[in-house]
Amino acid sequence: MDRDDPAANAVRWADPGAVLLRIGPRGEAAVTGDPARLAADRPSGRRDPQRQLLIGTVAGRPWFVTRAVPVAGPGRRIESLRGSDLPPAQREIVWAGMAALNWHESAPVCPRCHAGTRVGEGGLSRICTACGTVVFPRTDPAVICAVLDDRDRIVLGRQHAWEPGRVSVLAGFVEAGEAAEHALVREVAEETALRVTAARYVSSQPWPFPRSLMLGYVARAEGDISPVDHELAEADRYSRDQVRDLVAAGTLILPSPMSIARSLIEAWLADRLPVPESGADLSVPLGAALPEPGQP
Ligand SMILES: [Zn+2]
Repeated sequence: MDRDDPAANAVRWADPGAVLLRIGPRGEAAVTGDPARLAADRPSGRRDPQRQLLIGTVAGRPWFVTRAVPVAGPGRRIESLRGSDLPPAQREIVWAGMAALNWHESAPVCPRCHAGTRVGEGGLSRICTACGTVVFPRTDPAVICAVLDDRDRIVLGRQHAWEPGRVSVLAGFVEAGEAAEHALVREVAEETALRVTAARYVSSQPWPFPRSLMLGYVARAEGDISPVDHELAEADRYSRDQVRDLVAAGTLILPSPMSIARSLIEAWLADRLPVPESGADLSVPLGAALPEPGQP
C-alpha cells in the first residue's frame, strides 16, 4: 500500500466512502444500533497528516482515525471501546486505531538525539525532525492463559479493583529477555502458586489499552491455589456447569466480549480448546540447572 504517498492519501481522504473515526481521550467512540457498530463520520476539510492517521483500507473504504471527543446524537451514543461488543471486522479497525493513537502520543521525542518527531505521512511511523531516525510502533507482549486442572476445571480470578463477581483468566506481561512460556509459568506461579506442567499456544489478540499484544495459551497446572503476590483478590477453579450456572444467575461476570480472555473462556465452555499436553512439556522447571559462579 502506498501509504507514504501524500497524493494517494489526499485521494483517500476525498473518497466518498472514506471514514473518520474519532476516539476520545478515555478510549471512547460513537456507536449506533444494537448490537453496537461504529458510528463513524465522513472526513471533511483539509487533512492534517499529524492528527488524522490513515489506518488502512477495509472493504474498499479508507479509514482514518483521530483523537477527538466523539459526539452523541440521534441514534448515536458514546461507548468505551474496551467494553463494547463490536463485530469482528470493526474490532480490528478499533484496535489498529487505538494502537496508532496511543503510540504516536507516547513517542514525541527521538530515542537517538531527543529532538522532536513528526508523524510519517501514512501514520505507520514517526520521523525525527533533526537526525531523520525513523521510529516504528512498539508493542508490549503479554501472556494470557486458560489454566486447567486435571479435571478440566478452569482457574478464574478477580483483581482487587474489579467489582464483586467479575473474573477473568490469568495474565501477565512478558519481561525483557523472557520467553513467553517462561512468563506463563512465572505468572501462574506468582498469582496462584500453581505449577504449570504443559501449555499450548492458541491465538493472539492486540489489546491497545495502551499497547499490549496478548498471546493466548491453554495450560495444565497442578497444586493448590494460594495467591502469592496479592495481585488477585481471589481465585478459584470452576467446572463448565458451574460457570454456566453462576453466569446465568448473575453471580459471575465474564470479561468484555472484545477480549481474548472472553474468547478463551467461551472456547473452553464449548470444549474447543486444544489439549495442553499437545503443546510444550513445561513439567521441568525452566532455568533449573544454572552453573555455579566461577572465579573472575
Ligand atoms: Zn533524532
